[in-house]
Parts: sequence; C-alpha cells; structure tokens
Amino acid sequence: MSHAAMLHPGATIGILGGGQLARMIALAAAPLGLKAHIFAPERESPAFDVASAHTCAAYDDAAALDRFAAAVDVVTYEFENVPVATAEHLAEKVPVHPGTRALGITQERLVEKSFVAGLGIATAPFARVDTLEELEAALATIGTPAVLKTRRFGYDGKGQTLIRPGDDAAAAFAAIGRHPAILEGFVPFLREVSVVAARRADGAFAAYEVTENEHRHHILYRSTVPADVTPAGESAAQDIARRIGDALGYVGVFAVELFVVGEGEDQRIVVNEIAPRVHNSGHWTLDGAETSQFEQHVRAIAGWPLGLTARRGRVEMTNLIGDEAGAWHRLLEQPGAHLHLYGKAEARPGRKMGHWTRILPE
Ligand code: AMP
Repeated sequence: MSHAAMLHPGATIGILGGGQLARMIALAAAPLGLKAHIFAPERESPAFDVASAHTCAAYDDAAALDRFAAAVDVVTYEFENVPVATAEHLAEKVPVHPGTRALGITQERLVEKSFVAGLGIATAPFARVDTLEELEAALATIGTPAVLKTRRFGYDGKGQTLIRPGDDAAAAFAAIGRHPAILEGFVPFLREVSVVAARRADGAFAAYEVTENEHRHHILYRSTVPADVTPAGESAAQDIARRIGDALGYVGVFAVELFVVGEGEDQRIVVNEIAPRVHNSGHWTLDGAETSQFEQHVRAIAGWPLGLTARRGRVEMTNLIGDEAGAWHRLLEQPGAHLHLYGKAEARPGRKMGHWTRILPE
C-alpha cells in the first residue's frame, strides 16, 4: 500500500451514522492515536459522546457534507443504507472505505444475491419479483416454503414474509407493501453462522473464526465461538469471505451471514447476505479476540497492518435488548462478564441497548 494512502496518528476518521457501531469504531480509534468525527442526523446519537467532533445534519445536506469532508482524512460508515449519492459526493473529496461499489451492491438484495451467485458461491434459489404475476411465476419455479423480501431497506427480519404451501401470493405481496422484491427458496438450515473478515486496499486479508448466531424475534440474541461447523465448513466460510472481499475490492471489515445445511460430510455453507460494515456477530472480538473487529476496521481503512484474529477461549456474546439492559448491575457482579452499554437514553422494545461477553475455558 502506498504511503500516500496510509493515515498517520493524529488523523481523523469520519464516520457516517451515530449508533453503537460508530461508537465502538470511535472508541477503537482512540488508543491508536486517531480521532473520530461522527456525521449523523439524530441529535441523540450514542457515538457523539465518544468522538472528538460531530456533525448533526441530514445525509443530503451538501454544505454539511463538504465541511465534514474537509475536516476528516478518510470516511467510513456504520450502516449499509447510507445513500449512495452521499457516499459519492464525499468520495470526490476524501477516500471513502468501503467504497461506493460495495455499498451499491449490498443495498439491493437482488443485486447482492446475483453478485454472490455470479462468483459461483451457493445462495438460496432466488427470483426477481416486481408484480403479482412475477411472484406467482417465481413460486411455481422455486416452490414453497419461500421467503419474500423487499429488495431494499430490510434489516432484522423487517420487510420480509414467509410463504408456506397453500398461502395466498397476493396477501404475501401485500404484506411487504408490494415493493420491488426478491423471492428466495427457504433454506432448511441447521444453524446460522457468520464470518467477519477484514481486507485492506492491497488485498491483505484476515478472517475471524466462524461465529454461530442465535436469533430471537429476528434480532441477534447470542453469538458463540467456535461455531458447530466442520473444519471443511470453517475453511469454506473463510474462503467465501475472501472471494467476496476480493471481488468487491473491499476495504475495511465486513460480515457474511451464512446458513449451515446438512451434517458431517454433507455439510454445506450457503450465503444469506453481506454486511459492508462491522457486525453485531463480531462483537465478541472486543473481549474475546487478539484484535477487535473495530480496531481491525480502523487498521484496514487506515492502510495499517491488520491485527491477529485469534480468539482467547470459547466466547459467548449476548445482546441486551430493550429492558434486558436493566440487568446491568447483576451482570457486573458476575466475575469475568464484560459489559458494554451503548449510552442510549430510552430502552424501547427491540432496541439494542448493549451486550455482554463471557470467555469460557476451552
Ligand atoms: P435477512 O434479513 O435476509 O438476514 O433474514 C433474516 C432472517 O430470516 C435470517 O437470519 C434467517 O433466519 C431467515 N431467513 C432469511 N432468508 C431465508 C431463507 N432463504 N431461508 C431460510 N431462512 C431465511
């Protein structure tokens, strides 16, 4: 990597988005002598508390974006729904990592699935759905059960509906607001896992071990490492991440969400989706790995050497959703529990308020 593209201590990282992921990136930048400047429209952004500067403005406020670009040395983001126009506007003035191509591909499920399938990597069978007629045709080909998803702005199970044998196609299409959609065959998975990896502009790559993820009400509840996958499954998952990272020319940390299908020698790894950012399933690395995913992201976008990804034992990370964060005192009383609270004022149902991590003997 050329020295021109390498940040120096004292440089400022601009982060689009002010939630807990931006907060944890900013916290990881500080011990490396880097500053963080957060750009987010919400006045009560948890990341503002820990950054050396912040801009509270809309993502289409060109004047505010120009001032932000002039004040930072690199721009990154904590969520994949950053408007591409915002990222492109900034990219004319300052390096944006990951780039706008990764953003554009991962914002649209059909583009993303086609991209992954085009690399020869397994996905659920899928079809484009813009009309009820297309949905009926897709159901005839793919069969049921199937999952109908909006192509844009879906997260934590929002904008999707399961279609069972005998269900009414029109009702399913109405349930997702008749938005442009993708129909996916239902993958009969045994487990959901993810791989979190980092790539630098020159192609240097480092993946964490595969993480097993348990969801409740479509929200990540618990991640454990190591995951219950075969050694072949482990290396297949890491290889998938490497190929996706290379094909995107990716810079920074990203996650690939995967389904594990079949047991033993029949085990197969199927890609669900790519997150072009640090990921909730990588929070265990804060306390449980040699280098946290947040530090790794900072290193990657700064053009610095990537850190070791080895874990420090069996690790279990549990999210604190809504009122669960009220148990903070009891968690702190547990020897060895590492507590992370995100500084959010209001514990709304379904809101990620914090997480805690335990490191267990092997
Ligand atoms: P997503 O928003 O694509 O991450 O989907 C949210 C959750 O829905 C996943 O974590 C899975 O539990 C489930 N899901 C999504 N797509 C499929 C599929 N094609 N087959 C089976 N389960 C799925």
